[in-house]
Amino acid sequence: MAALDNFPDIVKRNEPLAPYTNLRIGGPAELLVQPRNREELAAVVRQCFRETLPLRVIGKACNVLVRDEGVRGVVMRLAEPAFTEIHVTGKRVTAGAGAPVSALISQAAQSGLAGLETLVGIPGTVGGALRCNAGDRAGDIGQFVAQVEVLDTKGEVQVRERDELQFTYHWSNLDDPVLLSAAFQLEPDSPDAIVKRMRKAWILRRAGQPLTYQAASRIFTNPRGLSASALIEQAGLAKTRVGGAEVSERDAGFIVVHPGGTSRDVLRLIDLVRSRVHERFGVELELEIRVW
Ligand SMILES: Cc1cc2nc3c(=O)[nH]c(=O)nc-3n(C[C@H](O)[C@H](O)[C@H](O)COP(=O)(O)OP(=O)(O)OC[C@H]3O[C@@H](n4cnc5c(N)ncnc54)[C@H](O)[C@@H]3O)c2cc1C
Repeated sequence: MAALDNFPDIVKRNEPLAPYTNLRIGGPAELLVQPRNREELAAVVRQCFRETLPLRVIGKACNVLVRDEGVRGVVMRLAEPAFTEIHVTGKRVTAGAGAPVSALISQAAQSGLAGLETLVGIPGTVGGALRCNAGDRAGDIGQFVAQVEVLDTKGEVQVRERDELQFTYHWSNLDDPVLLSAAFQLEPDSPDAIVKRMRKAWILRRAGQPLTYQAASRIFTNPRGLSASALIEQAGLAKTRVGGAEVSERDAGFIVVHPGGTSRDVLRLIDLVRSRVHERFGVELELEIRVW
């Protein structure tokens, strides 16, 4: 029997991942699983660990580069309503890990709950944002997290409370196989004031980033006390192109992928940028994007 044959309704074999990624590139998943509820999700997770099948969860792949060769094992996608609901109770907003961060922010704002609006314009899902502690100098998602529900390797739900959680620059200690949902503790404010701050944050974020119609990803983390974008720019690498991949001219920390570009082009451009920055400044740029 082939792997996960017992889940024919929710498993796609050899499914191209490009349409599910922000960059629209990359090869297929051996098994793409889209569970409809927590029971199916838990059963698949248990089977993956029992049969040592590699398991990855994909959000909107804004921080993932899928190689052209594709991904062995299981790629899980939490796109069904059971994983995308958002509820507001008092000062707490609870969101499924598959919910878009944009939906979380707007629901909080409409409910007169402040804090998350500084994250406006960061693409991706709640799960991806938690794992990567999405944010910037104005704040990060981690600071508002009250608790997170996860699935452990046995497929059992566990609750990670605030005092167990650590969030630092683009990192969290949420390393369980699947993040299910998170509760955010926010502060009341007038929806008008929140929307005003949201607009300001949006304008600031969009001003520096690649144009909205371009498929783009942030590639490197900022070395301590430095800016990856500034180093790349100062090394004269803005607009450098390898195949269909190009260093963005608006923010050199981003790579833009033109139609026909491949993951191989992006990886070759990454190597080029890293070696030039190293030659010029002696700094090793670390990848922010995860390569699958
Ligand atoms: C134009 C642009 C602007 C950006 N600006 C910012 C910015 O200002 N600040 C910032 O911090 N980031 C920024 N990013 C990066 C990116 O948006 C964030 O890292 C985002 O939070 C990733 O979410 P995602 O759903 O796409 O996660 P993915 O890229 O799909 O996944 C990221 C990681 O999280 C894991 N993961 C995702 N969901 C789950 C889950 N439910 N359970 C377990 N693991 C999971 C994945 O396996 C992977 O390891 C930007 C990206 C782009 C393209």
